[in-house]
Amino acid sequence: MTSRRWLLSHPAAHRIALAMLLLLSPVAAVATAHGPDPSLSSGPFGQNQDLTFRWRSGSEPTSAIKTAIQAAATDANASRASRAATFTYSAAGANPIGYGSGATCGVNGLACFTRDVPNGFTIWLREQSHVFDWGTLKWCQSYTSAPNGCYDAETITLDELGHVEGLDHHVDYASDSDYEDAVVQTYSRTKPSTGWNQHAFGRCDVATLQLQYDMSSWTSRYSACLDLSTVLTLSASPGGVPVGGTTTLTAALTVVDYDTYLRLGGNPVAGRVVTLQRRAPGATTWTSVGTMNAGSTAGTYVFVQTLTSDAEFRAVFATPATEGINGDTSPIVGVFTSTCAAAARTPGRGSQCL
Ligand SMILES: [Zn+2]
Repeated sequence: MTSRRWLLSHPAAHRIALAMLLLLSPVAAVATAHGPDPSLSSGPFGQNQDLTFRWRSGSEPTSAIKTAIQAAATDANASRASRAATFTYSAAGANPIGYGSGATCGVNGLACFTRDVPNGFTIWLREQSHVFDWGTLKWCQSYTSAPNGCYDAETITLDELGHVEGLDHHVDYASDSDYEDAVVQTYSRTKPSTGWNQHAFGRCDVATLQLQYDMSSWTSRYSACLDLSTVLTLSASPGGVPVGGTTTLTAALTVVDYDTYLRLGGNPVAGRVVTLQRRAPGATTWTSVGTMNAGSTAGTYVFVQTLTSDAEFRAVFATPATEGINGDTSPIVGVFTSTCAAAARTPGRGSQCL
């Protein structure tokens, strides 16, 4: 399903000339400003699905544009930070990328795409010097010294590859101060405007790729364009020890399993800093015991404690400064000590002996 939506007007008159129109889903979700890119309703490709591409017969790009397109594929693969589909050039690739006057883009499109999940995609780029009603297309790659006002074919192709992945245009602040948070933009920029030559997905592109395709590993960092809640649990085993005995505190950190978190809900969160704190029962202040160690399963953290008196523990995951998950503090876990033998203690009755 494809339809065309033309974006012909914009309050900033100078940017009308920059309008790049692409094939869009008519029912794409609406995102709040500065959130993850909206996603196309036709859904994601398979996780890590490799989408091979070839040059469209009879409409091959120029050598310089081919280089830019292949660079964009490398950019997409390198910056997806998720299990998003990958793009690989092959002379026998399944999906054609064309260039030139045969482009089936809308009247104002510099480039355009179609997608047919899970089967494949197409991309077209207009030819150098194509005449639009706003002016004449200049690809920066067509010059030895790229002039101002040219479009970077690598950046424009990366926008198209983002659409193929399932991304719709990012919703920027009115000020556009967050423009560089996304390559998948309604208005592509020309040299030398900020963002004209972005060669990696922006964090709000990545946020939606992560939501749609999941993380590459449990230690991978969540895009700072996300704002996900986590839940931290803590348990002690055993829950009571002889005086001088040891117990193992185990924390488990996960992303909260909200439906709106799509593939990210419930993910174990490994490789982060989780701190264990301790206090005497009922005391008002906590003392840091140390940083917990990686447990045997992803997202768990362990710390062994020797106790000479009853103690309370909690685990703390502080909100990281550089990624899009929020901190959490576990419930409090009490561990009692007893002079009794372990088998003689009363379950749930503190240090009482049987
Ligand atoms: Zn676009």
